[in-house]
Amino acid sequence: MVMGPTHATSGAVVWLSGGGIVTTVLGYSQQPAELAVYTAVCAGAALLPDLDVSGRVFRMRGGATAARVFGIVSLFLAECVEKMSLGVYLLTRTKRDPHRRNGHRTLTHTLIFAVLLGVGVSLLVARFGRPAVLGVLFFTLALAIRGVMAEWARKRGWLVTTTVSAAVTLLAASALPAEGYPLVGVAIGVGCVVHLLGDMITHHGCPLLWPIPIRGRTWYQVTVPSAVSVRAGGTFEKLVLLPGLTVVACVAAAWQVPEIQDLLTGSGTSRPAAGDP
Ligand SMILES: [Zn+2]
Repeated sequence: MVMGPTHATSGAVVWLSGGGIVTTVLGYSQQPAELAVYTAVCAGAALLPDLDVSGRVFRMRGGATAARVFGIVSLFLAECVEKMSLGVYLLTRTKRDPHRRNGHRTLTHTLIFAVLLGVGVSLLVARFGRPAVLGVLFFTLALAIRGVMAEWARKRGWLVTTTVSAAVTLLAASALPAEGYPLVGVAIGVGCVVHLLGDMITHHGCPLLWPIPIRGRTWYQVTVPSAVSVRAGGTFEKLVLLPGLTVVACVAAAWQVPEIQDLLTGSGTSRPAAGDP
């Protein structure tokens, strides 16, 4: 699989550049607080599909970044997600789909999962408002910290990551406006899709279009041609892809600065954001 930092940075890049494009083309601008929340949520959600990598719960070992983020709690959750995904795979596979004993890269690596999770979170936020936004932020922020600052987080352990995430969420609670954040579910869905694209550039691919049957398989692995695929954790990913994404993330973040937006649109009116009086 592609490394955690690559997934998380890709999520941030896609949200920041997407926001810049939307502002330039449609004139819809996110407030700085909104942009920070959505970018963190999207970066964290870009690690979520790997919650299907189970480890050894009681030994606190194994699992992907997403499974280790909250120690034994997330490892247990990953165990449940992996087993449930395997159950859905075995129930819906055709004779042409290979037999599996592990649920990794099945249910949580489909487009339908990304859409349903995004819709579910949107409904949650619509129903419960700010507490739901803060809950989602806490969860995804911990994932984003663990993803982007992988080495730092690994050395300090899950308790430090969780504490930092809780502290930032508490700070955000006092700074964020009471209303709004209609795009939290969208950021979750986009983050999951970014993860799938990241996995697809390695030669394993993802069952993107499940349950649509392709060549007799409901779990057909969609991938890119091997000539352009990337070796997960290889030199290209470490020396070119990840540094390149980090630079793009910084440029895309600078693109959101109002003065730069004004220069690009030539209007001088990139603020106030949509929704303001
Ligand atoms: Zn994955």
